[in-house]
Amino acid sequence: MRRGGTRRLIALAALALAASPARAAPLDPLQVADARVQTIGWKLARGNAAYCGRVGPSVGLLLQDVRNYSDPARARALLGLAGDIAVEAAADGSPAQAAGLEANDAVLAIGGESMAALPPARKGDWQRLWDLHARIDALLQRDGKVSLTVMHAGAERTVTLTGEPACAVRFELDTTGSSAKATRDRVIVTFDLYRGVGGDEAMVAAAMAHEFAHAVLDHQGLLDRLGRGMTKVRHTEEEADRLSVWLLANAGYDPDDAERFMRSWGKDHDPGFLGMPDHDRPGTRAKIIRTEIKALDAAEAKDPDHAANWPRDFVRQKI
Ligand SMILES: [Zn+2]
Repeated sequence: MRRGGTRRLIALAALALAASPARAAPLDPLQVADARVQTIGWKLARGNAAYCGRVGPSVGLLLQDVRNYSDPARARALLGLAGDIAVEAAADGSPAQAAGLEANDAVLAIGGESMAALPPARKGDWQRLWDLHARIDALLQRDGKVSLTVMHAGAERTVTLTGEPACAVRFELDTTGSSAKATRDRVIVTFDLYRGVGGDEAMVAAAMAHEFAHAVLDHQGLLDRLGRGMTKVRHTEEEADRLSVWLLANAGYDPDDAERFMRSWGKDHDPGFLGMPDHDRPGTRAKIIRTEIKALDAAEAKDPDHAANWPRDFVRQKI
């Protein structure tokens, strides 16, 4: 999902000429990136569900609204859609993927409500799409499951998705800006960062785990209360670097990737002390991450059945 602006038709236009309506439309580079971000997000949120303070049922599904394309009519035609709403991505290992949902399947109804009855959206208006995700979340909260009627490979079918517990944090790809950021319930990673690491899943995961740490520890709320003084921000940055190691482990990633990310992308994008005085330098951050990996290894050696139990074993910093 991209927060601002409209998405462009990139490779889609050229490739779609070869696609028949019965075949899945080809993915454009943004969709490939969206799918990877959703997969990483699913692994992080699902893998840490036992430990997050805020947990809700999730199905690992991201939708798209063709009104957000630069040319909605053309996008609809190229994707072979009868309506405006379609699957953007189904995270690997998620209930959405298990149900066979695939990118560019047209979504005809959600919870029995027809997408044809949706209020019209102006071009570039993202609210309608956010409302649909909120509707899916509300149905999952109420019923534990949600039904979707989709057009898949030319055939209409209805699937029921059962929610699985996941940390209540959304993951988004943004085509504007650089780097990544987080609030208490959203992690936003930019296409710029994604391309900067060549779309390498482990590297994107390391960046997202740092932001996910900010979210699950609610650093935004903490800084709202305490103010954003330099030492306080640095405290939260260090804590996010350290917790990312535990979050990656629970998601099935190698915690060493956090250090590797810091020594590669972090070093290449170091704005220096004057550019970012509230952040430690990448070399220092990589060392702090290395020390934390040792702490994680020690916790794992002590209790192999409950490895990476961060609410119990992660040492919060005094502020
Ligand atoms: Zn940060």
